[in-house]
Amino acid sequence: MKRIYLDYAATTPTHPEVVAAMQPYFSEKFGNPSSLHAFGQEARSAVEQAREQVAKLINARPEEIVFTSSGTEANNFVLHGISFANKDKGNHIITSQIEHHAILEPCHFLEKQGFNVTYLPVDKYGLVNPKDVEKALTDKTILVSIMHANNEIGTIQPIEKISEIIREKTYFHTDAVQTVGSIPVDVNKLGVDLLSLSGHKLYGPKGVGALYIKKGTRMESFIKGGGQERNRRASTENVPSIVGLGKAAELARKELNSRQKHLTELRDKLIKGVKNKIPEVVLNGHPELRLPKNVNLSVKYVEGESMLLNLDLEGVAASTGSACSSGSTEPSHVLKAIGLAPDLAQGSIRFSLGRLTTEDDINYVLDVFVKIVDKLRKMSPIYKGGA
Ligand code: PLP
Repeated sequence: MKRIYLDYAATTPTHPEVVAAMQPYFSEKFGNPSSLHAFGQEARSAVEQAREQVAKLINARPEEIVFTSSGTEANNFVLHGISFANKDKGNHIITSQIEHHAILEPCHFLEKQGFNVTYLPVDKYGLVNPKDVEKALTDKTILVSIMHANNEIGTIQPIEKISEIIREKTYFHTDAVQTVGSIPVDVNKLGVDLLSLSGHKLYGPKGVGALYIKKGTRMESFIKGGGQERNRRASTENVPSIVGLGKAAELARKELNSRQKHLTELRDKLIKGVKNKIPEVVLNGHPELRLPKNVNLSVKYVEGESMLLNLDLEGVAASTGSACSSGSTEPSHVLKAIGLAPDLAQGSIRFSLGRLTTEDDINYVLDVFVKIVDKLRKMSPIYKGGA
């Protein structure tokens, strides 16, 4: 059976050049980067090269990059590190209602520790209003964390406008896990002090990420027990994965324009095709300010889970929300925050496209999706003409 993977927002296949770059660092080049001998120094220089590659992709300086075990860790590090290092200045954090759980849950934890968190609402497209950030700022605000683009609905936030408002008043973090490698990301243009990214979302390996920390940022380390990463993050570096992330960043920089163009064309073809062939379908997220890889649709009178399972039977892998919330029947916090009616929230499905997606894939998906929706609607007691 034909198998089509349209869940690139959940994870991406590791690029063959990334796998090849990592390979020697498991066995022949196995040194510990902290060792002073030649084995160690070989590993050290590989880690430093990767740091340069990652820095270059986001226009940072290499010494501003700290490797982590994931995007989740990078986000936890920000919340923990900024809050505990700047307690003397204040205890207020601003974030949005549609952040990934790797931001929201550390925020809930910090609330239990006496910090106050403002969760900003979003509009029907999932956009944060920069004016709401301005209104929420107080002299006790130590951190604002607003994601660059949402993993479920693909909406890209006005990060530059928000940073103009914040202007050195407080630290500004963005979770760019979904954007790095998908659209241009430049920490200086965005005006952020901290930025999280993750290897496996940009054709690198799983279990590695990075945090950009602008020079001069006052931050407590999160993982303690060694002087690695300039005392910012203890533990022996995961050399093969860091090398892989570096290579993935280099490839992303070279291929960014062509990836973006390719995905935008296919994304728009899929959206247009569905809208032309299936009545009563809503595109979730912003019509223009959206990730080139993201198509999130709500189909009236059918359940997202049923579409997902039927697509899987036809060889198509999609998602009903973020990977971690799939499996739960509750509409996601993101769909709730954009005010989607419960029936539309239940009928939501996310297709996320990637560098290996072809036009033939989109044609195939359109073909099977139309048939699946038709079949499910006919079985639905609430659909006119249904069971
Ligand atoms: N932030 C966003 C926006 C994400 O989409 C994800 C993963 O889905 C994460 C953070 C977590 O990244 P990781 O899988 O590297 O822990």
